[in-house]
Amino acid sequence: MHKLFPVCFGLFILFSACGNTKKEPVSQEPSAAETGLQGYVEVELTADLSSLEDNYKKMIPLLIAAAREMDTLFWLQAYGMPDTFLNRLSSEAEKKYALINYGPWDRLNDNTPFLDGFGNKPEGAGFYPTDMTKEEFEQAALADKKSLYTVIRRDENGKLKTVPYSVFYASRLQKTADLLLKAAELSSDKGLTRYLTLRAEALLNDNYLPSDLAWMDMKTNPVDIVIGPIENYEDALFGYKAAFEAYVLIKDMEWSKKLEKFAAFLPELQQGLPVSAEYKREKPGTDADLNAYDVVYYAGDCNAGGKTIAINLPNDEEVQLSKGTRRLQLKNTMRYKFDKILVPIANELISKEQIKHITFDAFFSTVMFHEVAHGLGIKNTINGKGSVREALKEHYSALEEGKADILGLYMITQLHRKGEIEGSLDDYYVTFLAGIFRSVRFGAASAHGQANMIRFNYFKEKGAFVRGNDGRYLVDFVKMEDAMNSLSELILTLQGNGDYEGTDRLVKEKGDISAELQNDLDKLKEKNIPVDLIFKQGTQVLGL
Ligand SMILES: [Zn+2]
Repeated sequence: MHKLFPVCFGLFILFSACGNTKKEPVSQEPSAAETGLQGYVEVELTADLSSLEDNYKKMIPLLIAAAREMDTLFWLQAYGMPDTFLNRLSSEAEKKYALINYGPWDRLNDNTPFLDGFGNKPEGAGFYPTDMTKEEFEQAALADKKSLYTVIRRDENGKLKTVPYSVFYASRLQKTADLLLKAAELSSDKGLTRYLTLRAEALLNDNYLPSDLAWMDMKTNPVDIVIGPIENYEDALFGYKAAFEAYVLIKDMEWSKKLEKFAAFLPELQQGLPVSAEYKREKPGTDADLNAYDVVYYAGDCNAGGKTIAINLPNDEEVQLSKGTRRLQLKNTMRYKFDKILVPIANELISKEQIKHITFDAFFSTVMFHEVAHGLGIKNTINGKGSVREALKEHYSALEEGKADILGLYMITQLHRKGEIEGSLDDYYVTFLAGIFRSVRFGAASAHGQANMIRFNYFKEKGAFVRGNDGRYLVDFVKMEDAMNSLSELILTLQGNGDYEGTDRLVKEKGDISAELQNDLDKLKEKNIPVDLIFKQGTQVLGL
C-alpha cells in the first residue's frame, strides 16, 4: 500500500497535466465544469396560468422578451460580451456551466475560475476599470461615483469618469423600454399600466424612484415584473453598483391572502427588538405587502448561480421609509428547493430525533420572515455616519442579510408566542438550522453565504446546537433562543453605529467554513445532493 500509493499519485499527475499529449487518460476525472454541474438539479419552471385573462397571456411573452434583455446586460456587467466567449468553449458542459455562472467563475465555489486561462474574478466585476485601486476611487472627485446607476471608466487621459447606465447601455435599454410599453398596452390593471410606463422611462433616464413608488402602489395586478438594475451584490468591491435582472411573476391570490396579516405587526415587533432604544427609533412602513407568486422567468443577476426564493424590494431607502417594501414569496421555486435540497440535507445532517421538525411550513416561514425582517432595525446610523449602507461598504450586504435571517427567526418566535403562528416552535428552529446548511453550501463568496457562516459559527460558540458523534446536529432550543437574541443585538448595534471595523472583524473571525463543517458539506456532495436549481424556462415550457 505504502509503495503503490505514490506511484498511482504520480501517474495521475502525469496524465492530468499532459492533457495535450495523445496518451489515453487513465481516469475519467470530471472537468471543473462537469463537477460544478453536478451541484445543480434542473426543474421546469411552470405555473398554473388557467385563471389568467387572455390579455395577460399575451403580455407574458413580451415581459419574457424584456427580461431576456436584462440577461444580456447582466452578462456585460459580470463578464463582458457573452457570444465570443461562449463560442470559444469546447465542451457542452463548459458552455452550460458558463451560462449558469454568467462567466468563467464558479459562483457556488467562491468565484474560483472553472476554465483554464482565467484569473480571479475582478472584485468590481465590469463596473469599474480592472486596474483601478480602491484609493484611486476614494480620491476621485466625481459627484455621482457612488451612484447605483453609473459605471466607472477612464477618459482619454486615463482619469476616472462616470457614465450613466442609460448612456452606457442605451440601445438595449431602449429595446427593453419599448417592450414594457407594448406590455402596458395589454394591461387591464391601471396600477400595472402605470408602473410599466414609468419603468420604461426609468430605464432611459436612470431615475427609478417614480417607478419604484408606482410599483409599491400596485395591489390588484395578477401579473408582475421586477426589472432593471436592482441588487448590488455583484459589485464586491464597494457594493455601490446595481446589477440588471428580471423576474416575470404570476400572483397566487389564495396564498397571498394568508400572508397579508403579518405586515401589520412590524411596528410592534420593531419596538420589541432586543437592543437599546436608539437602535430601533426608525419606524418601519406598514403599507408594505407580502404576497406569494409563481415565477415564470428568471433573468440576469437573480438567475446567476443560486436562485432567489424571495424578494424584498425596492432597495431605495427613501421609498422604504415612506412606503415600506413589497415582499414577494416565490412559491414554486421554494417548493422545488425544499423537496430537492432541504429534505435530503436534513436526512443526512439533522439528528434522527429532530428530523420530524423539518416541515415545508417552517421553511416557508423562515424564508418569508427573512424578507419581512429587512424592514426592521435601522437604515441610518445613529452617530452621523450617514446610511448604514454607505458606512459598512462591501460588508453591508452580508450584515444586512444576516440581520434579516436572525430577526426573521425572532419574529417567528414572537408571533408564535402571541398565537399568530401555528405549529410547534421547535419545527422553526430545527428547520432554520437545516436552512443554514443549505445556504452555506453557496460558499463564503456571496453575501448570503457569508451571513450564514457567521451565524453558524456564532451559534456553535453559544451552544445553540451540538454535533453528535454520528455527525448529526441536535438543536438546544433554549440556548438557540439566547443566541438568536444576542446575535440580533450585535448586528443591530454594528449597523446603528456604522461600525465598519467591528463588522470587518466579525466577518474575518466568523466568516470562514471550519474543517469539520466542510467535512459535513462534502458528505452532502458525495450523496449528490444538489446545491441549487437551474430552470428550463420560457414561453414553450409555459405552453404559450
Ligand atoms: Zn435578504
